[in-house]
Amino acid sequence: MEEHYLKSLFLINSHTHIGDAFIKLPGKKYSVEELVAPVYGYKHRMLEKASKEKVINGMKKAIDLMEKAGTNAFVDFREGGIEGIKLLKKALDGRKIEAIILGRPKEMKYNENEVDSILSIAHGMGLSSISDWNEDIEKIAEHAHKRKKIFALHVSEAKRENIDEVLKLKPSFVVHLCMASKRDIEKVAEEDIPVVICPRSNAFFGLRPKIELLMEYNATIMLGTDNAMVVEPDIVEELKYTIKNFEIDEKEAIKMVSSNPKKVFKEFLI
Ligand SMILES: [Zn+2]
Repeated sequence: MEEHYLKSLFLINSHTHIGDAFIKLPGKKYSVEELVAPVYGYKHRMLEKASKEKVINGMKKAIDLMEKAGTNAFVDFREGGIEGIKLLKKALDGRKIEAIILGRPKEMKYNENEVDSILSIAHGMGLSSISDWNEDIEKIAEHAHKRKKIFALHVSEAKRENIDEVLKLKPSFVVHLCMASKRDIEKVAEEDIPVVICPRSNAFFGLRPKIELLMEYNATIMLGTDNAMVVEPDIVEELKYTIKNFEIDEKEAIKMVSSNPKKVFKEFLI
């Protein structure tokens, strides 16, 4: 692959959680549930007890790494409510890289004032998955749409989720779909909903994105690196891994880190 050509493109990492970059994983295998499930997963317990400085320093290192990899913009799912977004903004102070920040409520419930404040300082909402939520998720989606902001969520990562329930929320894009059925993927493509895949993070959990099916149905695919504690947020490495491990044309793969997300996030980029 032409590194020089890549450097000339506007590169976007379409899915990160750089807030967990400070976390060092003990060398054991985790399931998605054990590691990242909201509230009680290892990551959330670590985030809860870490000092602000520790979290910000981890983010700064992740930003260094992204800038070094030639990343022009990244789309971060930021935990920790309003405070969490403020930490990311602090870490971004003085940086050239653009961040599309998707927040989420501090607790797993809808509070109109909180969601309104989050939407005032972020580009939208980026939630865990529909299985973690009750009907409050509908209110969050509706609120984000009303404010013309992004509403996105993880879908069918380690277990299949009801795609009709997800599509009712009218997501701006979805992340993963590893366990989605062929028909689920067809429906997502029919609704023209872009899909972010994170092949290296999936591989860590013994999962695999369904790139072939997504391509078959002409879905708009974007690449992301997901949790920084699992995989370094280097989008060029993610691209190389994808080309090496999947039946995919190099040109098509490059679109997933450049023109596809550029189109999807157009109105949110400077
Ligand atoms: Zn994620």
